[in-house]
Amino acid sequence: MTALPLVFDAPRRGMPPRHLADLTAAERAEAVVALGEKPFRAKQLSHHYFARLTADPERMTDIPAASRARLAQELMPPLLTEVRALDCDGGSTRKTLWRAHDGTLLESVLMRYPDRATLCISSQAGCGMACPFCATGQGGLERNLSTAEIVDQVRSAAAVMRDGLMPGPDGTPTPGRLSNIVFMGMGEPLANYRRVVAAVRRITEPAPEGLGIAQRSVTVSTVGLAPAIRRLADERMQVRLAVSLHTPDDELRDTLVPVNNRWPVAEVLAAARYYADVSGRRVSIEYALIRDMNDQPWRADLLARLLREHLGHLVHVNVIPLNPTPGSKWDASPKPVEREFVRRVNAGGVACTVRDTRGQEIAAACGQLAAEA
Ligand code: SAH
Repeated sequence: MTALPLVFDAPRRGMPPRHLADLTAAERAEAVVALGEKPFRAKQLSHHYFARLTADPERMTDIPAASRARLAQELMPPLLTEVRALDCDGGSTRKTLWRAHDGTLLESVLMRYPDRATLCISSQAGCGMACPFCATGQGGLERNLSTAEIVDQVRSAAAVMRDGLMPGPDGTPTPGRLSNIVFMGMGEPLANYRRVVAAVRRITEPAPEGLGIAQRSVTVSTVGLAPAIRRLADERMQVRLAVSLHTPDDELRDTLVPVNNRWPVAEVLAAARYYADVSGRRVSIEYALIRDMNDQPWRADLLARLLREHLGHLVHVNVIPLNPTPGSKWDASPKPVEREFVRRVNAGGVACTVRDTRGQEIAAACGQLAAEA
């Protein structure tokens, strides 16, 4: 006899139904024809979604009501519902908690600067990489996000910027443009490879085929899945690669980034070099600086030496002061230790800067996304 489920009304966890943003332009045309509609309806739908940034079929009034209902039903199922939005930094940082069709929760963070606006997006609900200093890693992987669920986070933020709903650093909400995308929210993007690459294409294709954000302004951040980094290089896109190294030695990295047991530092850096060579772009190395853990002068020196060896000048180190996560005993390094670390890496011939931290008080900073309702 099987046990009765404890929760009767919980939706089945799983991928959402097919959505327009899952499909290439050619696939959209085919899908529309398969529904018995004229091919140009695909263009109309794309225009509404990718150029006008609306996901609401009711507003697509140039399509006759009967067609609209059928197309909406088959190609525009509701994907993400806003559960809550939290602001800080005078309103110029906003974290949004989304609920997917099956109840899955995920977060994205929009940050407006004087000269740009960056959206930090999730590629998975939860994460399976289990890095002990990251809040997302503690909850495990819930599921991959679909291509459309990734793209829809961007569409929604692009609309917020265009409609002037986000204040700039001076506090005035003026219209602006979403300019940068970083895959640094929940999840390991390269563990959801196919959907993430499709999402990057959709985000970067010119409107109305896609959302029209420059490939060079998109960053994919990874724990270092070496074969997937090489595969990404072979896509020949212009996206920036960020590698979460966090320490130059395998002994410590085996615990800080458990997947290091599978692809150790040397393999990760060789793959990063391949990416730099193929794309012609500098690779970013992420280094969360943790007090008395990975902040010693000798580690700074070793980091610089290894990066020079493997990547020459095609590298830049971003030091991220550790953001505290609930229940963790770990802390950021004291400022003098951080300054000395950065100084030594630079002295070793590798460009190194400290990333500014946004959103700490709303648990929106790097490594704090846990998507709790
Ligand atoms: N899985 C991807 C992307 C997600 S996180 C990756 O690991 O790269 C984006 C960055 O935030 C990563 O460099 C991650 O290691 C870092 N990070 C995670 N937890 C953090 C914390 N508590 N403080 C500071 N940075 C953290």
